[in-house]
Amino acid sequence: MPSFVIDEKCDGCKGGEKTACMYICPNDLMVLNPEAMKAYNQEPDQCWECFSCVKICPTQAIEVRGYSDFVPLGSSIVPMRGTEDVMWTCKFRNGLIKRFKFPIRTTPEGAANEYPDLAGKDLDSGLLSTEEAEGKTLSTPQT
Ligand code: SF4
Ligand code: SF4
Repeated sequence: MPSFVIDEKCDGCKGGEKTACMYICPNDLMVLNPEAMKAYNQEPDQCWECFSCVKICPTQAIEVRGYSDFVPLGSSIVPMRGTEDVMWTCKFRNGLIKRFKFPIRTTPEGAANEYPDLAGKDLDSGLLSTEEAEGKTLSTPQT
């Protein structure tokens, strides 16, 4: 089930050029309605429920309605991102609440570059990024 924005909590990231949810969505699904200053998921069918927008939203305005086998009706699962960890709050149907804390990565936001060797490559060519000549794979990506 896709993410959705709770209008009352969204402040449009205070009118920044690109909102936090737009920046983080790996599928470019989140967009801002500039008149209402509210973000929304423009193509819910394409949302893979990665929770990235939920974690990054500074006002906790985004939620993901979980699949019923994963999050049965009446329960909820909510992440809260801190500077060093993410706290997941799991509420069960019987009211029981459990919290789990996990460390987050230490790479600064925007600094990750999995493929530094791609610099200078022609990304518009028909070849795979690891191919030097058609049909011939010469190297694997360096991490
Ligand atoms: S990150 Fe949160 S507050 Fe910012 S535009 Fe998206 S939903 Fe609204
Ligand atoms: S849950 Fe993931 S894929 Fe879905 S809108 Fe949020 S960031 Fe994008």
